[in-house]
Amino acid sequence: MSDVLTLAALTKGYNHGKPSEVTVLQGADLTVQQGEVVALVAPSGAGKSTLLHIAGLLDVPDAGTVTINGTDMTKLSDRKRTAVRRADVGFIYQFHHLLPEFSALENIVLPQLANGVDASKAQAHALDLLDRVGVKPRADHRPAALSGGEQQRVAFCRALANQPSLLLADEPTGNLDPGTSDRVFDALMELVRGTGLSAVIATHNLDLAARMDRTVRLVDGRLT
Ligand code: ADP
Repeated sequence: MSDVLTLAALTKGYNHGKPSEVTVLQGADLTVQQGEVVALVAPSGAGKSTLLHIAGLLDVPDAGTVTINGTDMTKLSDRKRTAVRRADVGFIYQFHHLLPEFSALENIVLPQLANGVDASKAQAHALDLLDRVGVKPRADHRPAALSGGEQQRVAFCRALANQPSLLLADEPTGNLDPGTSDRVFDALMELVRGTGLSAVIATHNLDLAARMDRTVRLVDGRLT
C-alpha cells in the first residue's frame, strides 16, 4: 500500500499580534495509506482545522513537511502547490459553501470544467455522484431549495468531482441534527469507500469515529 499523505514533525503557532505566541501544533506526525479513512478527534480549539488546512495546502506550517503521493509539498512553489491542491485534494467543511446561483448539478460540473473536463463527461460524472448519495432527483435544484442534509451530500460530490486522491473533511456533518447526521455520514462513507479514496475526517462524534478505519487524537499539538 502506498502512502497518500504523510505529515512529519509539523509545528504551527499564531502570535495574535502579541509576542507570546500560541503554539497549536508541536510536532504532529501522521501517515495515511491509500484507501484508509482516519478519524481526527479532539476538542474544539485543539487545532483540527489548522492541521487540515496545512494537510490540504491551504496554509503552510512553521516547520515540518507535508508529503502528498510521494512529493514533499513544502519544497514546491506556490503555483505548483495550488496545482496539486486542485488536482489531488478534496475539501469538505461543516457548512456546504455551494454557489447559491447554480443548481446542485452545476455546482459539481463547474470544478470539472475548470479542470479541463469536457462538458458532457462532467455532467455524466456529476449525475453519477449525485445518484450515489441519493440526490439525483434534485439535481436541478439550487442549494436554497435543498435540505441541510442534501446540501452536504452535494458538497461531498463537489469535493470528489475531480477525483482527488485525498479527502479532508472538517466536521462534515457537524451542522446537522443527530438523525440526519448519521444518514449523511453513511452516504459520505459509501462515496469514499466506492472510490478507494484516502480521507481524514475531523469529528467530535465518537460513534462516527468508530466507523472509520482508525482514530487519531490531537493532544497538546501532537497526534496520538
Ligand atoms: P479546532 O479546529 O480544533 O477547533 P483550530 O485549528 O480552529 O481548532 O484552532 C486552534 C487554535 O488556533 C485556536 O486557539 C485558535 O484561536 C487559533 N487559530 C486558528 N486559526 C488562527 C488564525 N488564522 N489566526 C490566529 N489564531 C488562529
